[in-house]
Amino acid sequence: MTEQFDLIVIGGGSGGLAHAQRAAEYGLRVAVVEKGRLGGTCVNVGCVPKKVMWYAASHAEHLQHMADYGFTVSWEDHDWAGLKQRRDAYVERLNGIYARNLDKRSVQHILGHASFIDAESIAVEGVIYRARNFSIATGGYPLVPDIPGAEHGITSDGFFELEDRPQRVALVGSGYIAVELAGVFNALGSDTTVIVRKDKVLRDFDTMLSAELQAAMTKSGMQLVTGAIPASLQKSSDGLRLTTVDGRNIGPFDAVVWAIGRGANTDGLNLTVTGLVTDADGFIPVDDYQITNVPNITAIGDVTGRDALTPVAIAAGRRLADRLYGDKPGRHLEYRCIPTVIFTHPPIGTVGMTESEARDAHGDAVRIYESDFTGMYYALGEKKQRSSMKLIVVGADERIVGCHIIGEGADEMLQGFAVAIRMGATKKDFDDTVAIHPTSAEELVTLR
Ligand code: FAD
Ligand code: NDP
Repeated sequence: MTEQFDLIVIGGGSGGLAHAQRAAEYGLRVAVVEKGRLGGTCVNVGCVPKKVMWYAASHAEHLQHMADYGFTVSWEDHDWAGLKQRRDAYVERLNGIYARNLDKRSVQHILGHASFIDAESIAVEGVIYRARNFSIATGGYPLVPDIPGAEHGITSDGFFELEDRPQRVALVGSGYIAVELAGVFNALGSDTTVIVRKDKVLRDFDTMLSAELQAAMTKSGMQLVTGAIPASLQKSSDGLRLTTVDGRNIGPFDAVVWAIGRGANTDGLNLTVTGLVTDADGFIPVDDYQITNVPNITAIGDVTGRDALTPVAIAAGRRLADRLYGDKPGRHLEYRCIPTVIFTHPPIGTVGMTESEARDAHGDAVRIYESDFTGMYYALGEKKQRSSMKLIVVGADERIVGCHIIGEGADEMLQGFAVAIRMGATKKDFDDTVAIHPTSAEELVTLR
């Protein structure tokens, strides 16, 4: 007999689990179809294991300052394999917690690949399931360039499978993943090269962040190769070599990591039978209410191609359930003022408009406040790392429309400021807030 649900969510990652669980709390009969491990990208091959590696790299950095504080610490080598084992065990524990969370709310977990039969039924491993409503939360996958030899490289998924640290590494790409993983490899002792096809890393971010990060990366020993469009990757006796469109041969490397963006997991869903349209890149267009062009099918998270961040997928999923099943009409995620952290070394925290976006939108009404300093943590030694902060304000009341921070502690600093900025804080509100001393964060309320 075909099983019938009120709601079937396809994809058991950040967005899908959040949506399914909230809907079940409202009393719906819900199932989640997941073909892999519960938790999706974030828990298994994204934020969580990445942050563990970032902590490891941060330890390596702190070791460099131990002597300044009177500790004698010698670092022989780093046990990458042991760290991976403990990291994998942690992720497995999380997988178990996610399964128990579904059980607690009586959400049925269907293991396997879902594909639509029509707009009200799917097949999973030969079994048919029906529902009034579907939500697609199938996330994305790492892109690999369509060039000869690309298969010799790995992606961020492969990064998390590495049993040992490669000594000579190239990261190809200029976004979040390239700079985050480069920071990990470099701090843990790999000779690290970042290969970008244009002129700099983090091109979509405020120019201050991009320039400061690039300076920090070079200062910490990374190589940056610019204007390098990959043409082919070859395996030679001394390692991997990347040839660029303009004929350069870069390498050799023990590992090359493709970090050139992510595609949408929509190919195997058989969407055509539902009439649901995707864009040219396979993402599912939705409006601010997560509505697709098919009335009973919504979509959330990375698969929609909007702000590919875990808290965005979770917030969209929960609010959608609140609106559809929780008697909260109008509830939805506002896709604006979304804070984000890039876990580089040093970390970056950013929210709101870049300076160029603000100038395009507000012209001469824009005013910039900036600060550049060396945090007290570095006061006792020779190895120093700068921090930079930028506030972008608009109009006579100096409403803050952008806040960009790079430096020690930026990752933990941003969340509270993001609340204030989303509420419409002005420069005067910041000025009127008493500073917390001695911290780096106090610079943001003392800018002149
Ligand atoms: P996913 O978490 O990708 O879940 C989708 C699930 O659907 C997957 O488990 C997949 O197996 C399943 N699925 C797909 N197709 C089918 C099918 N046909 N049938 C059944 N199941 C299917 N974001 C942050 O906010 N902070 C970070 O620090 C951060 N770090 C990241 C680091 C890396 C290396 C990567 C790759 C991403 C990172 N992200 C981070 C982004 C974050 O992981 C994603 O935005 C988030 O996981 C999106 O959640 P989702 O629910 O949309 O999709
Ligand atoms: P991004 O979109 O962040 O960056 C990829 C960049 O690679 C592009 O912007 C482009 O930059 C460059 N690129 C694209 N195609 C090619 C190509 N063929 N050859 C060389 N370079 C190319 O993608 P990521 O894969 O780094 O990350 C995916 C998403 O996951 C992020 O956007 C983010 O939303 C999320 N994420 C979030 C994290 C966090 O919150 N800390 C951490 C990791 C991921 P250019 O045009 O300058 O060349």
